[in-house]
Amino acid sequence: MLRLLEQSPEGFRDWLTDRGLPGYRAAQVRKWLFQKRAAAFDEMTDLPLELRKQLAAEFAIWTTYIVERRRAGDGTEKLLLELHDAERIECVLLRDDKQHCTVCLSSQVGCAMGCAFCATGLDGVRRNLSSGEILEQMLHLQRLLAEDERLSHVVVMGMGEPLLNLDAVLPALAMAADRDGLGIGARRITISTVGIPAGIHRLAEENCQYHLAVSLHAATDALRNELVPANRGFGVAAVLEAADEYFALTKRRVTFEYVLLAGVNDQADHARQLIALLRGRPALVNVIPYNPVPGLPYRTPTPTATAKFVEILTQSGLNVNIRFRKGDRIRAACGQLRRLKRH
Ligand code: SAH
Ligand code: SF4
Repeated sequence: MLRLLEQSPEGFRDWLTDRGLPGYRAAQVRKWLFQKRAAAFDEMTDLPLELRKQLAAEFAIWTTYIVERRRAGDGTEKLLLELHDAERIECVLLRDDKQHCTVCLSSQVGCAMGCAFCATGLDGVRRNLSSGEILEQMLHLQRLLAEDERLSHVVVMGMGEPLLNLDAVLPALAMAADRDGLGIGARRITISTVGIPAGIHRLAEENCQYHLAVSLHAATDALRNELVPANRGFGVAAVLEAADEYFALTKRRVTFEYVLLAGVNDQADHARQLIALLRGRPALVNVIPYNPVPGLPYRTPTPTATAKFVEILTQSGLNVNIRFRKGDRIRAACGQLRRLKRH
């Protein structure tokens, strides 16, 4: 059986025309899946019955299924999906009071980067996700929405390092942005990375206008090497240089994420080092109070410590947001539900 979501728009069109079928049916099928939230070919009622049967015989739409669905009081919903080879991944739907609905997607099963504080990194990487598996996360999450809700944003901030799987991530995001796909503008799509310079260069050259978020967490190599072991391979200076290039080529301001860990990177000195590093750059800093992971030694700073850290940054003129992670009670932080639900 072929996998429908692994086909490129051109590939699926060719499959149809090779059989003497009209190529425009490809866009019709896409609209059913991505806009009308259909789950099966027989729901696609403006396709001839014969074609629906033929497609159902040749193509599988779904290769993953929902093992568990959790919903938090704030509207956050998290899905644990099982893939065709019994691997498991997580994806999350976030709702906010501005009527935004954001999907948070995984790009790999696990992660090889081994950041010291992260649940996903604890067991290493199992494999890359395919573009179809990334698209399926969007479709599953979209089907959780009420009829009057629409997806407005996509963030690749779930499990895995997206810049190590760009060959699958880019086609999936192109479909999210496509008018016949989800129709979400590129500027509402964010890729979050541990900061791999070669990957950032490639993304800059593609100039697809996605928003880039770099997970910095420390301004010096000494501390960053400890928290983000992948940093030992390139260093903070190369990460910043790549981010500068991203801005120069795309004119999109880069966000720097900074997970605040009590007593580790939340002191006044750390704030001053960050200011020195980012001075003169058109940057936005996202401060994220740590979401504790069972078994790891890191702690969330108190609200007072967080406010103090943020105030030092703000007073220097940096643009700063504090991002409180949603859905803590359902273990919405990346990689946590998967660890809990091992088989
Ligand atoms: N690998 C990519 C994308 C996935 S992680 C990256 O590292 O950017 C997405 C974000 O969640 C990163 O900024 C990461 O540092 C952060 N994160 C991971 N574990 C966390 C935790 N327990 N609490 C708060 N943020 C966490
Ligand atoms: Fe991987 Fe990102 Fe977790 Fe680091 S924070 S281990 S890069 S998923």
